[in-house]
Amino acid sequence: MKVKDWLRVKEEVKKRDGYRCRKCGSSKSLIVHHKDGTSIDVMEKANNKIENLESFCRSCHIREHWRLARELEGKTLAVQTRNKRVLSEYKKSARRFFCVP
Ligand SMILES: [Zn+2]
Ligand SMILES: [Zn+2]
Repeated sequence: MKVKDWLRVKEEVKKRDGYRCRKCGSSKSLIVHHKDGTSIDVMEKANNKIENLESFCRSCHIREHWRLARELEGKTLAVQTRNKRVLSEYKKSARRFFCVP
């Protein structure tokens, strides 16, 4: 996806959400978040479909990423004893959980 298309999609998402954070309703420093965490590849493989995007303020966005990271960690710890490679997989995928503002 090109930068200018991404800017347009972001604007569309914020507009849909009424320029408010979906969690707390704040209108300050809105960030468009990818529900599936694919955001780091925003220019290439990210799922930039409007259904996968939601507006959060800065602090709710950080909290959401903590939640995602914990969820992922829980899953990883469950299988870790069976497969040591999982930990490095986890570290790789954890990097994905950062949205480009
Ligand atoms: Zn918020
Ligand atoms: Zn995010």
